[in-house]
Amino acid sequence: MSKRDYYEVLGVGRDADETELKGSYRKLAMKYHPDRNPGDKEAEERFKEAAEAYSVLSDSQKRASYDRFGHAGLQGAAAGGPQGFDPSAFGDFSDILGDLFGFGDLFGGGAGAGRGRNRARRGEDLRYDLEISFEDSMRGMSADIQVPRLETCSRCKGTGAEKEDGLTTCPTCRGRGEVIYQQSFLSIRRTCHQCEGRGQIIRRPCAQCRGEGVQRAERRMKVNIPAGVFDGAKLRLSEEGQPGYQGGPPGDLYVFLRVKEHPIFERHENDLHCTVPINVAQAALGTEVDVLTFDGLEAVKIPEGTQPGHKIKIRNRGVPVLNGSGRGDLYVHVDVKTPTRLTREQRKLFEQLRDVLPAENEPEEKGIFDKVKDYFM
Ligand SMILES: [Zn+2]
Ligand SMILES: [Zn+2]
Repeated sequence: MSKRDYYEVLGVGRDADETELKGSYRKLAMKYHPDRNPGDKEAEERFKEAAEAYSVLSDSQKRASYDRFGHAGLQGAAAGGPQGFDPSAFGDFSDILGDLFGFGDLFGGGAGAGRGRNRARRGEDLRYDLEISFEDSMRGMSADIQVPRLETCSRCKGTGAEKEDGLTTCPTCRGRGEVIYQQSFLSIRRTCHQCEGRGQIIRRPCAQCRGEGVQRAERRMKVNIPAGVFDGAKLRLSEEGQPGYQGGPPGDLYVFLRVKEHPIFERHENDLHCTVPINVAQAALGTEVDVLTFDGLEAVKIPEGTQPGHKIKIRNRGVPVLNGSGRGDLYVHVDVKTPTRLTREQRKLFEQLRDVLPAENEPEEKGIFDKVKDYFM
């Protein structure tokens, strides 16, 4: 029987690129796959043929050799050997067809396949919301939290079965965890569906977890909250999430922090801001006020002639740098309050002041004033 030309088999031109080859091969492989054509010898031949053609043409060395010498150029090479067909031609199946046929389970005997294939999975991550006070975010703290989560059942240690006679060998796979069946020329190996690869099934479910292997629990733990944490920070506690599946590692626990607002202080980055009201006389004459900081009362000098909105920086009285050293600064914003509801005496004094103070009725920028004047003249 003379072999068909590989390009002809795949239905592509001699200049076909990798994408074209792959696309064409995928189409053929799906059409002629033994799973879809049980017992069809013709389809099986076509399937093998396509696999062989693709295994050669997708390999640049083999392809060059084939282009020059035809099938003779491949004598002794993987494809077209004495047995006519080398199963290694299927090596690329998983990436081409994997999503369609579950090839991870097919073609047993390949690398990674076989009994006890790693079915372990990591547990889910958990989220816990924690609200703390502004003060606690400044100082850092240790919080006691109770996290509802699943834990491995203490009675059955996660097997889901009673200790005595709880488990029995899976009748479907006879304990192998996988089933192998012959389908045309392929030996197909699949993870056993009854026991999901464990090789054993539960005969008597655990009385405590009813066979789930896990139980709901409230886990108490301490969370260390470092000084300087900000609103919206996430703390990761590794492996404190849901337990893993079948021996997999547990997930992580994320503590989402919400820092309450402070009635006096506002935080920007690592700096704190607060406002201190003073009266007109204090602003004019200068004064000293006691400002509340997180380190106690601090005497702050306000110079004479202080304007509204003036801010005074107090070094190193801000928020501690998270996981670092040093602190931000504290900015004291001076708010000059104009008095209302004057007593008769105060009114008299202000009137005297008014008579001696220069009038402040000129715009600060002379330029603008001149322009306005020009406009009206
Ligand atoms: Zn149990
Ligand atoms: Zn089984």
